[in-house]
Amino acid sequence: MAKQVTKGHCYLCGSIIAKSGFRKHLSSKHSFVGKNAQECVLLRVEDTDTKAYWLYLDMPLTSRLKTLDNFLREIWLECCGHESTFFLSEGHEVEKSTELGVLPIGVTLAYEYDSGCTTDLQITVLSTSFRRRQNVAVRVLGRNVPLNFICGTCGEEAKYICCECNAMEQPPFFCSKCIEKHEHDCILPVVNSPRMGVCNYRGESDKYAFLGNANGHR
Ligand SMILES: [Zn+2]
Ligand SMILES: [Zn+2]
Ligand SMILES: [Zn+2]
Ligand SMILES: [Zn+2]
Repeated sequence: MAKQVTKGHCYLCGSIIAKSGFRKHLSSKHSFVGKNAQECVLLRVEDTDTKAYWLYLDMPLTSRLKTLDNFLREIWLECCGHESTFFLSEGHEVEKSTELGVLPIGVTLAYEYDSGCTTDLQITVLSTSFRRRQNVAVRVLGRNVPLNFICGTCGEEAKYICCECNAMEQPPFFCSKCIEKHEHDCILPVVNSPRMGVCNYRGESDKYAFLGNANGHR
């Protein structure tokens, strides 16, 4: 898939921001000062391959990698309960019981979901930060705007991806009309995830789409 420069929504104020400027946006517009603050790590998660899918998250220092693993499965990955692993560097696995607060600032972890048809992510610990205390461990601060894919047959917006065409390096994307006449059976929906078109991934547990400024994100 071609590399794309992507923009994302700030879930705190609704602005659309380039990925490269996102961290600066957070520090200049959304630094939290106040009582009862919760100390967090600021994380950037992106797909290793294209880096077109990305998330900015904060999580309390006392949260564990297991919680991040569960969240990544929910928003981006879960198809049939595959294994997942965090690595500190080549071959050095990090336990899921590890607290985020012990990871050095600036470190990038590699993360693998499914050792067969693997989705590779990288997770960078950007800094510590503060937020208003809240019960949900993982807060979404930013997420790439859904990428546009075009039907290879008619040029309309694509809604489906054909795994067989994809494997054969044929144009894999189809609109709702053209997919009905398509000869192959392994059809998956276009979704805002780096696991799109892989295994049986349909994005059903992703409840984190940006719904606009007034949908209660804080
Ligand atoms: Zn903002
Ligand atoms: Zn699967
Ligand atoms: Zn079409
Ligand atoms: Zn096909």
